[in-house]
Amino acid sequence: MTSQPILRLRNVVKTFGSFTALPGVNLDIEEGEFFTIVGPSGSGKSTLIRLLVGMDEVTEGEIWLRDRRIDQTPANQRPTCMVFQSLALFPHMSVGQNVEFPLKLRKVPAEKRRDRALELLDLLRLPQSYYSKRISQCSGGERQRVALARALAFDPEILFFDEPLSALDYRLRKTLEKELKDLHSRTGKTFVYITHSLEEAMVMSDRIAIMNKGHFEQIAVADEIYGRPVNRFVAEFMGEVN
Ligand code: ADP
Ligand code: MG
Repeated sequence: MTSQPILRLRNVVKTFGSFTALPGVNLDIEEGEFFTIVGPSGSGKSTLIRLLVGMDEVTEGEIWLRDRRIDQTPANQRPTCMVFQSLALFPHMSVGQNVEFPLKLRKVPAEKRRDRALELLDLLRLPQSYYSKRISQCSGGERQRVALARALAFDPEILFFDEPLSALDYRLRKTLEKELKDLHSRTGKTFVYITHSLEEAMVMSDRIAIMNKGHFEQIAVADEIYGRPVNRFVAEFMGEVN
């Protein structure tokens, strides 16, 4: 890890009318970190991540990417990328066309696009023959891998995940948890991951932030949260897992 955080939030406030979803979030995320935000439904996880990728505007406060302030930067000009639960793939197109889509937007020549797509399939451990396979012929787990390959084709500095595995069955979820962790170490990218499952957070993360009603109760490595919960909320949240 470097000394300068890749992402810094300073007093980030988000209100919806008279409702305050985020009263003032401060957070530093280190370069290359697998950082997970975990908390009950309605605690403000999605709201926060939407501000970070630019899908919604901060009410107050600042978001910094290294030494660049980005809270007023349009989403498509931020070097970040969101991976959704099932990142809308184009079902009528092939795996290759889906993965190449971001490169096509950037007018990368066809041959280069193909090379990069094959490289990304390899990174996600999908056989090269999948390049011409239709999305509709892929299983749920394979689609998730294609979605990840496509996200990586944007070459984002930070990848954001909002509960990408929550709709999947237990076994597939366990497999993909392992693959995501593995992908994180092989790409060296910064991952910011959201889940309501502390168990999932414990398996994958470098650090975990426990969110409650728009603020963080504790930010620490898994062992510390497990061994030394700072308050009753964290302890009870932990208790629900065991
Ligand atoms: P989480 O992702 O942790 O389940 P959300 O960030 O989706 O929580 O929601 C946090 C709170 O903000 C909830 O009380 C939710 O009802 C509220 N909220 C989220 N988006 C909006 C919106 N567009 N308008 C009004 N309230 C919202
Ligand atoms: Mg949510």
